[in-house]
Amino acid sequence: MSWLDDGGLVFVNASQVVTCAGPARARRGAEMNDVSLRVDTAVAVRGDRIAAVGTTADVRGRFPDAREIDCQRGVLTPGLVDSHTHGLFGRARFEEQEMRASGLDYMEIARRGGGIHSSVRDLRAQSEDALVDAARPRLWRLASFGTTTVEVKSGYGLSLEDELKSLRAIGRLARELPMRVVPTFLGAHEIPLEHRERASGRSEYIELLVHQMIPSVANERLARFADVFCETGVYTTDESRRILETARAAGLLLKLHADELSPGGGAELAASLDATSADHLAAVSDAGVAALAAASTVATLLPGTMLFLGQSSRAPARQLIEAGAPVALATDFNPGTSPTPNLPLILTLGVSQLHLTVAEAVIAATINGAAALALAEETGQIAPGFSADLALFDIRDVRELPYWYGDNHCRATWVRGKPCYQSNLAVS
Ligand SMILES: [Zn+2]
Repeated sequence: MSWLDDGGLVFVNASQVVTCAGPARARRGAEMNDVSLRVDTAVAVRGDRIAAVGTTADVRGRFPDAREIDCQRGVLTPGLVDSHTHGLFGRARFEEQEMRASGLDYMEIARRGGGIHSSVRDLRAQSEDALVDAARPRLWRLASFGTTTVEVKSGYGLSLEDELKSLRAIGRLARELPMRVVPTFLGAHEIPLEHRERASGRSEYIELLVHQMIPSVANERLARFADVFCETGVYTTDESRRILETARAAGLLLKLHADELSPGGGAELAASLDATSADHLAAVSDAGVAALAAASTVATLLPGTMLFLGQSSRAPARQLIEAGAPVALATDFNPGTSPTPNLPLILTLGVSQLHLTVAEAVIAATINGAAALALAEETGQIAPGFSADLALFDIRDVRELPYWYGDNHCRATWVRGKPCYQSNLAVS
């Protein structure tokens, strides 16, 4: 039967409904510890919106024509929000894992032409169609773990033509797939090798970004955000500021890869620009923490990257939360440093490595992830008026979500009130 033509849906018989209901903005401090968990609760959906959250009898009474979805004592949550991925790429880079394990570091692999540069060579050789075909099953893998909103960055093109090709491919995936896909322009992911080889090449590439790439991306409305990799050896804070100010003037919202490997003032820069998020932060300084706490910028932490790189440094999540900075968690899904599509695994790392509570980790991957994409008024909580983006997990208690680490208990997801992912165990 059709999912579209009736009186909506009513989700019943969940063991817990983790609503994350509350203000439509990033949660900070003690707010992050409250997921507004409800039992004996049903959720009604009409069209693409959450229509009601209440007792089963009440919701059934108000929506007598709705089709019932039996949650079979599973846990219903807002659809997970993965606010930082590099999900559009060509070939995987599994060979680098052994190189890294043998002692070569990230920058050394990059200097040898591996790392980002090998993905750039590869992406440039692929057609837009081939990139769409490569990304489609990978984004479905992300969806299979409960993710209903995913940010996807460009940044392996690093030329006008190849960055536009990347963003057009992301746009096609956004139109084709049921999940919500948010495109980000990351032309400032690296300085491409052909520019690194000339003394004036670096400044020429930044001029290209500022005068050609950003205007083209904005004119074609190919991205919602612009992002820069601000790090020692990549873009300086002064260069990052110039690129981001240009992007903002062109109408893009801002993100920043900040303080991943060394404390370079990236968090302070993101806060001073009122960027929507500052991401990584494994090496953020005390001044950077204070700057984020005083700003609206979401601190997006990516502990999967540190795990995969074998690094012992960790983002100071407790310090950030206790200072009052809103914290999000994301996969950083990418072919080099974090090839996992599993956002619940990142919740595991948030709890076991970053010392978040389960509630804080859930908030970080729902409403705060939405805030990190400027979507907090649209998604990230189960409350009337919000987009009907839901994930149903085959567990009895939300604390099992990070507990069964690496496993997948997602049974089904819905986006804008329509089915998105369904596992073999899916409810009918
Ligand atoms: Zn990244």
